[in-house]
Amino acid sequence: MELLHLEETMEELRESFRSRRTRSATWRRAQLKGLLRMLEEKEEEIFKTLKEDIGKHSAEAFRDEIGTLTKSLNLALSCLEDWMASKKVHVPVIAFPTSGEIVPEPLGVVLIFSTWNFPIGLALEPLIGAIAAGNVAVVKPSELAPACSSFLAKHIPMYLDNKAVKIIEGGVSTAERLLEEKWDKIFFTGSAQVAHVVMSAAAKHLTPVTLELGGKCPAIFDYLSSLRDREVAIRRLVNGKWGLCNGQACIGIDYLLVEEKHASKVIDLLKNRIKNFYGDSPQETNSISRIINKNHFMRLKNLIEDPTVKASIVHGGALDEDNLFIEPTILLDPPLKSQIMTTEIFGPFLPVITLTKIEDSIEFIRSRPQPLAIYTFTKDETFKKRIISETSSGSVTFNDAIIQFACDTLPFGGVGQSGFGKYHGKFSFDEFSHGKAVLRRSFITELSFGYPPWSDYKIRFLRAAYNFDYIALFLLLIGLKRK
Ligand code: NAD
Repeated sequence: MELLHLEETMEELRESFRSRRTRSATWRRAQLKGLLRMLEEKEEEIFKTLKEDIGKHSAEAFRDEIGTLTKSLNLALSCLEDWMASKKVHVPVIAFPTSGEIVPEPLGVVLIFSTWNFPIGLALEPLIGAIAAGNVAVVKPSELAPACSSFLAKHIPMYLDNKAVKIIEGGVSTAERLLEEKWDKIFFTGSAQVAHVVMSAAAKHLTPVTLELGGKCPAIFDYLSSLRDREVAIRRLVNGKWGLCNGQACIGIDYLLVEEKHASKVIDLLKNRIKNFYGDSPQETNSISRIINKNHFMRLKNLIEDPTVKASIVHGGALDEDNLFIEPTILLDPPLKSQIMTTEIFGPFLPVITLTKIEDSIEFIRSRPQPLAIYTFTKDETFKKRIISETSSGSVTFNDAIIQFACDTLPFGGVGQSGFGKYHGKFSFDEFSHGKAVLRRSFITELSFGYPPWSDYKIRFLRAAYNFDYIALFLLLIGLKRK
């Protein structure tokens, strides 16, 4: 749908929310089931659109978009009533006699922005949370994946309540126009640069915002002593770099940290695995995605155009502009001040940075903005503990990369420059809900220690209550003073 009638669209959405029908479990279930049905019935079409927009193989599309969404929908459907239920909480003695509970309530009309790299997955994953929590929603898919955007615009209204869930297609001007409206929540997936625009617009209406951003996710490779472990680690590492959209992924590995003495062996292992995954000429395979468009192709080309960076290429480096293809490329120690090491790469280049000791990776990471994810391949438990306690990032994964995205019992989100707010599974429900505090007091008893006229006795009473000193409280109540 288009922007032309945005005011009427907003009114229709608000009316749907005011009608309270989106609050019922029945409505929420019907929408979640609708999404599930769409994924089942339109699977082939989704494969086709993802191929068209970004050259994604159907297996990758299923693993990272349809499969992940199906799992999230099944989880939401099986937990919905539990998530919706109010949760009793313990209340302190100072409020006696009282009971307390947290009642989740939907936020209202929410706006979701998504990106082009997972154009179906990242448009619908937050929508699952928004619907499960009982909101009405507008999704603005990325204009850079036009086939996927028009797929959503065409099919979502056929499967979901189209007075409560809208897809609004368009580019920057559409996004800017949408941001002029007053929303009850904005969920933004994208770059830190655009996040500034989103937050400024949200500030005008005090709209709460979730920012799912990116950054440079490091992988640390502690040279494992077992050959088998090493090979498994390298396979996971190659998948974590090139296996998702050919490096165009927010949680994809940006650069690799290794000990200097192991660097050449690690690079050989990487090269072998790349060959094993993509053959002798990766361009011929359909197992690797294309660069999304010419602008991004040129952006990536510029990153390695710098002669000092170009000189550091030890594998790959072939670029085919006509087919928007860039080969998996490894660079050894490009200058740390070069753009490839100071901006998010979001493409198929892997800088390998050598360190004297693998423990130096902690300081290397700490001296840079907090990443969305840190990956560490190691069996050293002390090192694992140090990574957890001495670095800060959205997530830490040991001995794999990417897989954390599929674990919806863990929150997904960033910290610092990589964003804020959490989603996936129950965290999505919470992100789109307000946990309303409800306190019920009874008239059974009324203690006067909280009211004037004040006295020393009341101070003692309050002190005992705030310190959970139940014996002192009891003694005070029966008129005795503890020695
Ligand atoms: P982007 O910021 O360019 O675009 C994201 C969305 O914002 C799109 O819908 C786009 O239309 C809209 N937009 C663009 N310019 C705008 C403007 N001036 N005003 C308002 N809206 C505007 O991001 P992208 O290029 O689509 O995606 C790449 C970035 O997203 C990377 O930085 C990547 O790390 C990040 N990302 C993060 C996650 C995550 O889950 N944390 C997932 C995927 C991508």
